[in-house]
Amino acid sequence: MENCDILVLGVGESGKHLAWSAARAGKKTIAIERSMVGGSCPNVACLPSKNVIYSAKVYDLVKRAKEFGITTGTVSLDMAGVRERKRKMIRVDAEFHLKMFRETGAELVMGEGRFVGPKVIEVRLNGGGTRKFSAEQIFLNLGSRAALPGIPGLTEAQPLTHVGALELGRLPEHLIVLGGGYVGIELGQAFRRFGSRVTLIERGPRLLSQEDPDVSEEILRLLRDEGLDVRLNTEAVRVEGRSGNEVQLETRSDPEKELIKGSDILVALGRVPNTHEVGLVLANIALDSQGYIRANDRLETSAPGIWGLGDCVGRPFFTHIAYDDFRTVWGNLKGENRSTKGRFVPYCMFSDPPVAHVGMSELGAQKTGLDYRLVKGPITLALRTSTVSETRGFMKALIDAKSDRILGFTAFGHEAGELMAVVQTAMMGDLPYTALRDAVFTHPTMAEGLVALLSQKPAVISSEIENQRRSA
Ligand SMILES: Cc1cc2nc3c(=O)[nH]c(=O)nc-3n(C[C@H](O)[C@H](O)[C@H](O)COP(=O)(O)OP(=O)(O)OC[C@H]3O[C@@H](n4cnc5c(N)ncnc54)[C@H](O)[C@@H]3O)c2cc1C
Repeated sequence: MENCDILVLGVGESGKHLAWSAARAGKKTIAIERSMVGGSCPNVACLPSKNVIYSAKVYDLVKRAKEFGITTGTVSLDMAGVRERKRKMIRVDAEFHLKMFRETGAELVMGEGRFVGPKVIEVRLNGGGTRKFSAEQIFLNLGSRAALPGIPGLTEAQPLTHVGALELGRLPEHLIVLGGGYVGIELGQAFRRFGSRVTLIERGPRLLSQEDPDVSEEILRLLRDEGLDVRLNTEAVRVEGRSGNEVQLETRSDPEKELIKGSDILVALGRVPNTHEVGLVLANIALDSQGYIRANDRLETSAPGIWGLGDCVGRPFFTHIAYDDFRTVWGNLKGENRSTKGRFVPYCMFSDPPVAHVGMSELGAQKTGLDYRLVKGPITLALRTSTVSETRGFMKALIDAKSDRILGFTAFGHEAGELMAVVQTAMMGDLPYTALRDAVFTHPTMAEGLVALLSQKPAVISSEIENQRRSA
């Protein structure tokens, strides 16, 4: 048994920062990781997907070259080249992570860890053999993985998840995407732009069910305009064949059944936590009904001296949230009083153009019965959009009827994430919307569009009337 001060299981976004900070503070720190140093984000999720999506954007722009007054020769796609660019980024990032371990002195142990006692973790080392560690303070950053629901034949079809899809060195002839959430939309659009036929299956009546309906409608229009075959209200019933070769998906869209033939199938149907087979029960760590670690707003689990961080404690699933979890836990250990309660959760879906959101949505406002003022306008209010020929989209802000504070902001359009960050900053500073309206922003930037948006006469929305209208 080896004793240490700090034991980190899972070197994802939160775990790595915790290990580095603890080691820098002079604590004897052991960090255990089974495969991906740095976790999902830099290896198989955020960064690789945005990298590949950007290749698809470049391909799309090259095909639009004439519109920009540029003549090209024959344009063709090299998926192996797309993959190599992504792999190169990952390699650089991996070297950075290893360097950080060397420099901080946190010991990185590569292997699969599991509890064998309340505060004892045994590691099956990747290189063979085992090591056993104990510590008074243990941090679980176990992450999540793509859910594979029990659709008959799906497992046997060896479907792609985001991991395999981002490693393809070939172009699927016809990609069937299960799921109309972020991952399905981002990757579905990218593969369509590369040239695959793409059929996207969504069980619900609209894409991105957690967003306001106007966002869902615009995304649907975008995807259909780009040639994706999007099926709403459609259930995947059965799969036959093998992804990468030939697959047949039986769907039901009441009352009709249909057989869709494709070359590959990608599952993007949500996440499940990596909390099984880790022996959490031996450490007295309680899980919720979906298998996520139960943690309070200081991220303390049911076991004293053990914390849960990132995806393994449940929604929202974002890298910036996993990072903030680290700040919360580490801050409290240093004597601060941090909580995850009430923090801003901004996010962006990297479709092209992207969708970005912070604060309250219209649906959220209507659920709480709040009356609000709404300003909404086309993304072309930012003149930047016409200079770059990216004129699709809209933006809207919800403003508190009494205090003039911005309650929420959504943009679907060019550089929506950057635009949203400007509004978020004003919200964090508790500024009235007039501070942005009357600001002098550089011309022609996307931020300048906020002046035009917020100068519009707002419509006053009564949640009660709006709810009645919807149910009618
Ligand atoms: C395709 C895709 C795109 C995404 N894009 C974005 C985006 O643009 N922006 C954004 O904010 N979020 C995005 N996300 C979400 C984001 O990737 C996750 O929220 C984030 O990576 C979670 O980080 P984490 O630290 O909680 O877990 P992870 O990064 O998954 O880290 C957990 C680590 O624990 C290790 N581990 C687990 N069990 C054990 C064990 N028993 N022993 C040893 N090691 C173990 C795993 O190998 C892993 O490395 C995306 C997700 C996907 C799937």
